[in-house]
Amino acid sequence: MSCLGFCFAQQFFFLVNHAACATVAVMRTVIYPGSFDPLTNGHLDIVHRAAKLFDRVVMAVAKNEDKHPLFTLDERFALVKQAVKNAPGIEADAFDGLLIEYVVSRKAQAVIRGLRAVSDFEFEFQLALMNRKLNENIETIFMMPKDTYTFLSSRIVKEIARLGGDVSGFVPPHVRAALGKKFSATKKI
Ligand code: ADP
Repeated sequence: MSCLGFCFAQQFFFLVNHAACATVAVMRTVIYPGSFDPLTNGHLDIVHRAAKLFDRVVMAVAKNEDKHPLFTLDERFALVKQAVKNAPGIEADAFDGLLIEYVVSRKAQAVIRGLRAVSDFEFEFQLALMNRKLNENIETIFMMPKDTYTFLSSRIVKEIARLGGDVSGFVPPHVRAALGKKFSATKKI
């Protein structure tokens, strides 16, 4: 190869390498943690909004046994997984322990939390600042859902389902079915 040809090849490989590195560097991952007990349309609204801003959004189901969840961790994870299985850039996972350690282990740069009303703010603000104390490189981003979901919570959905009400406007069909099964099982006991 002539000297000119060699230089050209070198430059070409430099450019290809550089482009590959740049692609890796801009890959943005965010974690959306929660109990998701169970997943609601409010959660889905937030995760789809986040997916427009990040390359990858991980819906991370927290074990949170101290909250005495209605659904087990495996059940909550399966409901989330089914809801996002065809959504590009969104994946489901489960974790136990410190959120910040999980975020680092997934090589994520930020955490998404949903804010419905002022009542969410105090707790979320405290959590975000505590997480920043634990690792100041991880940012917390607050997102608002569509206004029709601002009243929606997993707790309210469980209460309506427990009393036999229709939750089809608030959760995906497979979550509605799971709630029906859970409460009909409870009634038989
Ligand atoms: P956690 O027990 O961690 O609060 P949740 O499953 O209740 O878990 O909620 C996970 C996140 O989703 C929280 O940031 C919460 O504020 C947010 N969230 C819950 N319901 C809604 C909703 N209807 N609209 C927007 N954000 C929501």
